[in-house]
Amino acid sequence: MEFDGERRRPQVVNTAGKTTGGSSYIASYMRQCLTSDLGGYYTSSAPSEHDQFGSKGDFVTSPEISQIFGELIGIWVVAEWIAQGRKGDGIYLMELGPGRGTLMDDMLRTIRNFPDMTKAIEAVYMVEASPRLRAAQHKLLSGDRPLTENEFGHESTSRHSDDLKIIWAEDLRLVPKEASKTPFIVAHEFFDALPIHVFQAMPQPKQQDDGSSTIQTPTGPIEPKQRLKQQQDQSQWRELLVSPKPPHRLKEGEPEFELSLSRMATPHSMYLPETSPRYQALKNTDGATIEVSPESQSYVRDLAIRLGGSNPTPATAPPPSAAAGRRVGSAVMEEPVIKTQPSGAALFIDYGPASTIPANSLRGVRSHERVSPFESPGVVDISADVDFMGLAESAINSSPGVEVHGPVDQARFLTAMGIEERASQLVKRAVDKERGGSTGQDKGELTELVKRVESGWKRLVDRGPQGMGCLYQVMAVVPHIPPQPGQQPRRPVGFGGDVPM
Ligand code: SAH
Repeated sequence: MEFDGERRRPQVVNTAGKTTGGSSYIASYMRQCLTSDLGGYYTSSAPSEHDQFGSKGDFVTSPEISQIFGELIGIWVVAEWIAQGRKGDGIYLMELGPGRGTLMDDMLRTIRNFPDMTKAIEAVYMVEASPRLRAAQHKLLSGDRPLTENEFGHESTSRHSDDLKIIWAEDLRLVPKEASKTPFIVAHEFFDALPIHVFQAMPQPKQQDDGSSTIQTPTGPIEPKQRLKQQQDQSQWRELLVSPKPPHRLKEGEPEFELSLSRMATPHSMYLPETSPRYQALKNTDGATIEVSPESQSYVRDLAIRLGGSNPTPATAPPPSAAAGRRVGSAVMEEPVIKTQPSGAALFIDYGPASTIPANSLRGVRSHERVSPFESPGVVDISADVDFMGLAESAINSSPGVEVHGPVDQARFLTAMGIEERASQLVKRAVDKERGGSTGQDKGELTELVKRVESGWKRLVDRGPQGMGCLYQVMAVVPHIPPQPGQQPRRPVGFGGDVPM
């Protein structure tokens, strides 16, 4: 595509249909702003685009703050591999939304210290929607090894070993689901970028009341229980939409869009809030707001099935022959994954509440500042809090072979994984090297390095009100293997468990 010198903007079109009066679903707005080919924040191919990551970009992420972050996640994966019996083949590593590729690079460097595991790794899969970031990841992980197209997307090999294939896919669904394989999956700051729908609970418009069923008492009228119940059942969910601001409220330098409440039910508001008892419990709370990310849930469903296999088909399902020749939904067509032994693990690290349903968390971020998500579509990063309990529910409902641990806050997880010890080791190594005269560094450089290591790890576990240590949560999905009688259930490292290394 030729670039005309001016930044292309994603088209914010009316996706929410006639009933919504020219508005768009928040989910469509997010998708268009973040990953549309035409000027999406991540996917824009404009050559002059600034790097989103780092101090000069819009945000800094944990792997970019300290190499120890990726190293400890690498150790977590190795510990799971050990706990699951040190499989000698069929292992693959997968990362969703790998950004610049730093996390995977740090993980691979750490895993290389465990040659038996390294030998067992068949491939590394990188699920990345952005061609620009794919190129950055390829440069970091593969160096000058060529990037070629394959059936899933692109592939190359590791700059450290021609035997290690690195495969890029734009979507998780393109990565083959093989029951015999053992995937270790990480997603850091991935789910927060996936589109959400937002709903608000409100009472149905009151019906005409002729007073006939109201009981009059000396202290005033009382409505029969039945009527109250009826009214509660009449609460409804309405969807919040992104609407163009009316011209009389449009001001120079302010966003062109704003949130508005749909005047009628949308297909999403009738379906999504009914999919979990957690949402249903809030339906009668006037004004309650919930954010739901069906895309995140379907990602987790797919991952849980890769780890633990599909749910058994219900006995009432029609036999396959009955479905032949009919148009059926993809859920019915999906090949079941039958795993004789659940295997692998997934680790999700993101920001969001540990147990409640996120509300009012849609945000824009530009140059490290929080801004309106409706400012400069495609130029501002947009994200929302991750619903960890929602992800846990999806995992457990999608596969009988998985269990979920956490979420625990990042400070607790990284501390349990040994962040402080690793930082002291890095500092000591640098100091020893300098003493031995093998670095050629002057004192100033060494002091800088020590400062960087020290401030980096402390920032990751900072428990202050806006500290990364408590804003970020870590959750693990691992195989569910019922303990033998008399044994305690196994816990992964970082979540209260221990593995002899
Ligand atoms: N994990 C990295 C980057 C986080 S930014 C880090 O912590 O530094 C979000 C990443 O997810 C980017 O790489 C972005 O291109 C990718 N991404 C966003 N939406 C995506 C989608 N729908 N499918 C695949 N990748 C996506």
